[in-house]
Amino acid sequence: MQDLKSKKRIAILGSTGSIGTQALEVIRENPEAFEAEVLVGHSNATLLIQQALEFKPNAVVIADETKYQEVKSALAPHDIKVFAGAKSVEQIVEMESIDLVLAAIVGYAGLSSTLNAIRHKKNIALANKETLVVAGELVSRLAQENGVNLYPVDSEHSAIFQCLAGEWENKIEKIILTASGGPFRGKDRAFLADVKKEQALKHPNWSMGAKITIDSASLMNKGLEVIEAKWLFHLKTSQIEVVVHPQSIVHSLVQFEDGSIKAQLGLPDMKLPIQYAMAYPKRINNTFPRFEFHKYPQLNFEAPRPDVFQNLQLAYNAIEKGGNMPCVLNAANEVVVQAFLQDKIGFLQMSEVISSTMDKVKFVRSPDYQDYVQSDAEARHIAGSML
Ligand code: NAD
Ligand code: MG
Repeated sequence: MQDLKSKKRIAILGSTGSIGTQALEVIRENPEAFEAEVLVGHSNATLLIQQALEFKPNAVVIADETKYQEVKSALAPHDIKVFAGAKSVEQIVEMESIDLVLAAIVGYAGLSSTLNAIRHKKNIALANKETLVVAGELVSRLAQENGVNLYPVDSEHSAIFQCLAGEWENKIEKIILTASGGPFRGKDRAFLADVKKEQALKHPNWSMGAKITIDSASLMNKGLEVIEAKWLFHLKTSQIEVVVHPQSIVHSLVQFEDGSIKAQLGLPDMKLPIQYAMAYPKRINNTFPRFEFHKYPQLNFEAPRPDVFQNLQLAYNAIEKGGNMPCVLNAANEVVVQAFLQDKIGFLQMSEVISSTMDKVKFVRSPDYQDYVQSDAEARHIAGSML
């Protein structure tokens, strides 16, 4: 148990990424509240070393084993343990001194370490939405069995979580997830047929890793978030609505059974939901820029266009069907996003490949962990063969 007076010791899985670096900014600003206990990165050894030298964690892990010597030598004069490889990423979360695990690895790659952290009764600040998309049922069950809390980092889910504070006993009628609409809001399919990655990577409101930025442009991000919300807040799919809100000021809303709606607002800055997840249930004073109404004379809301952005519907179909289908959706999506980033596939083809993959992979109604591993591999193989 954590002593109330002591610092929260945090393991940051994905410390070299967009969420990871912003989490370190939060720690840097609040050294009396937080300590970086473990840092994990994939292959950016230079940044991982620099972070380790500044934050002096107990241990670092570099997933890419070819970078082990480089990190080891750079940190040799310091009292910092260095490990490498995927197995070490998974095992490091077991360290007794960790109070909270920030799951900020991108994609399916983040699943096994998060599951292991839950099995070892570590509370989770969850940025890696793919974990709940792939294995929401398993993750929720294990979290419940181990008395583990999942604190959402995703801005929409943090908004809902903040709206629910003090309302835990009250029935939710529905939640409304806001979507910026991304760089292609208002465009038609003829326009989308020719867009290039450079255009898709220009998100109007948020600066994020490449994968989630493409997901935002294709609306798959919102589809993944619908599934994420279902598991986090124990909802039926029919209770989750999406509204396009181009300014990204209203981060999401909850409608209770009396019809009253609560919303959480703020400037688009991931440091706020990261800090809330890390400090929960406390709020911490900070110097982040404040929202000012006069700078936003209009906040707009419009219906999403599933006829143009088909990924949103594919995600609803996947979660309606259940079983391994969201896992298949996620795997196919990771394959096509990678292919789009390598100019191997057009923007609209991404949905086509995901949809055909969902038709072809063997359906498993009640998957266990091994079924997820297998479905992920099968879906990647099938999606890959269509490129
Ligand atoms: P990113 O690409 O910027 O960073 C990913 C991090 O994961 C990096 O540190 C990378 O080194 C690490 N990583 C990747 N593969 C790994 C592996 N196999 N083993 C170990 N580490 C590995 O991505 P991001 O934008 O920071 O997003 C991270 C997660 O947070 C995603 O699931 C994303 O959907 C979610 N999220 C991000 C934002 C955002 O604003 N960036 C907002 C909401 C949710
Ligand atoms: Mg989000």
